[in-house]
Amino acid sequence: MKCKTIKVNNFRNIVSADLSFSDGVNLLWGENAQGKTNMLEAVCFFSLGKSFRGAKENEFIKFGSKQSDISLDFEDSVREQNLKINFYRDKIKHIEQNGVKLSRVSEMIGLYRAVLFFPEHLNIIKEGPSMRRSYLDVAISQLRPVYLRSLQRYNHILAQRNKLIKSVPFDRRSFDSTVEFWSSQLAHEASQITKSRLGYIDMVQKELKVCFEEMTDGRETPSISYDFSMKLKENEIGDVKLMEEAYFSQLMSSHDREIAAGATLWGIHKDDLEIRLNGKNARNFASQGQQRSLALGLKLAESAISRTASGEEPVLLLDDVFSELDAGRRQYLTERMKRGQVIMTACGDIDIAETGADVIYVKNGYFSEKMPDSCSDISQNNESENDFEINYAENTDNDVENTDGGYASDVSDENEELFSVDGDADYD
Ligand code: ATP
Ligand code: MG
Repeated sequence: MKCKTIKVNNFRNIVSADLSFSDGVNLLWGENAQGKTNMLEAVCFFSLGKSFRGAKENEFIKFGSKQSDISLDFEDSVREQNLKINFYRDKIKHIEQNGVKLSRVSEMIGLYRAVLFFPEHLNIIKEGPSMRRSYLDVAISQLRPVYLRSLQRYNHILAQRNKLIKSVPFDRRSFDSTVEFWSSQLAHEASQITKSRLGYIDMVQKELKVCFEEMTDGRETPSISYDFSMKLKENEIGDVKLMEEAYFSQLMSSHDREIAAGATLWGIHKDDLEIRLNGKNARNFASQGQQRSLALGLKLAESAISRTASGEEPVLLLDDVFSELDAGRRQYLTERMKRGQVIMTACGDIDIAETGADVIYVKNGYFSEKMPDSCSDISQNNESENDFEINYAENTDNDVENTDGGYASDVSDENEELFSVDGDADYD
């Protein structure tokens, strides 16, 4: 998988950019707050279908502008493709694949495969279970669109079941008559999702071991296992039918506690991953650098699994990855990056030669292959880009007029709950 070019207009602080990427390591380099992560966020949107920073799409649009446009040319081993997205302040975004309108964000997921690492991924190790579930959900959804659909159905059923539980004080009769239906639906989706998660974790475990073996010369051994919120017997784990029966019977036997809590208390939306380093829980015992290495290792495992499953090396998107890694770990990563295409960001303190990267300099939302001489150069360039901005906006307005409003709410609704399961707080 190769990202060839990206065109960006009025996306955050980027007025206009048209970047070509090399097939190797591409480094977006500049001082703080210049627009490096903004560009990575634009590239990554095509892969994730949402902001990796958890931002709302409205926030993408440059202050004072009405719309933002991003367009990506990429190629896999079969063909070249284009994805184009227009974000608007006052209406739903418009997505096109090779000039043909897509009606749902999920139709885009899996077309352009990228694996992202950014500093907050440290929270996969440090924080509560939701980041760890999200790691699994995002990774598996990219590989298997059926997983994403199953997850979306689970979310929907869970919301219905929670609504039902909350309604008990007002309407006990409707609870008694429909709880069995929602529980069986939920158990069905949960068993499918669990099966996929368990299979994925097996693959992660193998890849993570190889990664740490090389990164730490065998001094550190990671392990990862699935932590069920429901009680399952040994023989039930991994068997879809038995897991479905076990989930259903637990959902049907816990009504009093669920009604007291006002929510569904057990299921895949409460499960967790246990990540250990040298046999000890990494969350409590690993150092900051070790936690960072583990988070990075999980993402590199995701990349290796994606390549094995699809035959395509996904593009690695690395935001500020080198800080806090010691020399040995940096060297490992530098070697590892040679496998495929990388788009990474870094600030002033990086040894550019060490990365062997093609550098794109970033200043004040302006991107250049040459190091900008002075601020006046940049403001001049931005002025000329502003002319372009006006033309571009006029062209895309035509698209907007032709947009069929019907599909719009589909795109929005689905995106809201693309990977998130349940709004309930984690209970660990
Ligand atoms: P760092 O090295 O600190 O991570 P960065 O180059 O990655 O810096 P970005 O996160 O890309 O910086 O942000 C650059 C700037 O973009 C910030 O100053 C931010 O205020 C600005 N910005 C964010 N959203 C918008 C927006 N919608 N319109 C205009 N500017 C924005
Ligand atoms: Mg940044």
